[in-house]
Amino acid sequence: MNYSAIKLTAPIKDYLWGGMRLVTDYGKKTDKEKAAESWELSTHPDGESIVSRGEFKGLTLSEYIKANGGDECIGHRAAGFDFFPILIKFIDAKDNLSIQVHPDDEYALRVEGEYGKTEMWYIVDCEEDSFLYYGVNREVSKDEFRERIENNTLLEILNKVPVKKGDVFFMPSGTIHAICSGILICEIQQNSNTTYRVYDYDRRGADGKPRELHIEKAIDVSRLTPSQISETANSDTLASCKYFTVKKVVCENTAEFTVDSDCFRSLTVTDGCGKLELNGDITELSKGDTVFIPAQNATVKLSGDFEAIIAYV
Ligand SMILES: [Zn+2]
Repeated sequence: MNYSAIKLTAPIKDYLWGGMRLVTDYGKKTDKEKAAESWELSTHPDGESIVSRGEFKGLTLSEYIKANGGDECIGHRAAGFDFFPILIKFIDAKDNLSIQVHPDDEYALRVEGEYGKTEMWYIVDCEEDSFLYYGVNREVSKDEFRERIENNTLLEILNKVPVKKGDVFFMPSGTIHAICSGILICEIQQNSNTTYRVYDYDRRGADGKPRELHIEKAIDVSRLTPSQISETANSDTLASCKYFTVKKVVCENTAEFTVDSDCFRSLTVTDGCGKLELNGDITELSKGDTVFIPAQNATVKLSGDFEAIIAYV
């Protein structure tokens, strides 16, 4: 089967810590007052990507897949999962995100009825002296963890890591983490929206009340020994695990890559602009765009000057 590349429109989430850069710099449109996240490749019921052009314009990504061969369209490696396996987002952290943790598959399927969340962050842009939190900075007992959540001293035992543009962080489920202010990332993650909030800087939500914390569940799933940070900024392959593989592609003038019938590919433009050609059909690409390429044996030709992230299973 020869499929065209499918350009997607992302739903926008207006979480309280978000900025407006996704609108001003990354071509997103919204009526909301904040554009914290854009869900670039999503079949998640909390916000599905929509086909933005061509014959299937207006369908959700899952409706498009269903109407176009289902398992064949996503490829057998992706079809081997119970749900569509990945979710890709841009996240614009104008303010700090809460300190949080995600469960693994076993816990999440049992308690929440969806997958756990292992995720990967690609730092698309950031302010000078930006940092994030990644795991604990020493061995901590569950009792100490609970005590520090209760007396607001949790930050003291977290591993604070400076970041720069182009850095990559692989975040296995169970790693306590937070994206801090001034960072814009592209996140590739398992298709899950289960987050246990541990600490929220004592902030209030839009309704004036503190946002809910999920302390007991967080204590259940958090890894309380320091973890090795796997930063892989020097290779084309940014991450590879059983849930996803992520590669960086740099197009200077022209470039190409092959796709196969084993799995779909998604391509998200993180900088620059250009064109993508597949089966004679041309798709214009600008910074912030995401394209879904159904599983098939073909060569994708790129032209222009841009950087993009390709993800698949
Ligand atoms: Zn997270």
